[in-house]
Amino acid sequence: MTYEWETREATEKHQQRVAGRPSFEAINLLYATSLALRSTCRRLAVGCVIVSPDFQSVYSAGYNGNARGLPNDCDVVGDAAVGGCGCIHAEANAITKCGVPHTTPKTVITTHSPCMACAKLLIQLEGVQRVVYAEEYRLTASLDMLRQEHIVVERWPRDALALVDGRALSLIDDARRQLVEDWRRMGPGVTRP
Ligand SMILES: [Zn+2]
Ligand SMILES: [Zn+2]
Repeated sequence: MTYEWETREATEKHQQRVAGRPSFEAINLLYATSLALRSTCRRLAVGCVIVSPDFQSVYSAGYNGNARGLPNDCDVVGDAAVGGCGCIHAEANAITKCGVPHTTPKTVITTHSPCMACAKLLIQLEGVQRVVYAEEYRLTASLDMLRQEHIVVERWPRDALALVDGRALSLIDDARRQLVEDWRRMGPGVTRP
């Protein structure tokens, strides 16, 4: 008996899928982007993940919003909220939940470049070797400060940026649909040898 997934067509499809797999870097950017969707801030939706330098282990994750139990909204709205809406920034949330030792090397991936306060917290966290961001925040002095502290700071390459432009969600959706389809095709209880 030949299962459908053993045919030449299925093998070619499998090889194409394997060749087109996203990098761990892209997966982490997708994760940071997905986290931003959880943001409850009116001004900007930001997501941040703290990972190992090879991008394969996630140490912590955060998005911007109010403290646990407080209203899911900014404390201050309108003009007065510029630079001070009261929300905890994504990086700050990720830092407070980062349980690995200070000495562990870390890479930080954010949807937006960190502000001055968050850049200082990242220095204080210790072990941060690299900060990668997708969009540049309006103030960039924080990036110079991180570089002075010998932290590599860089913007995502263009093809990775395309993931943030609304493609992230459809990619996640496509992947989920494909998984469901694969499981359905293989049938219940069928496992690969
Ligand atoms: Zn806010
Ligand atoms: Zn910040």
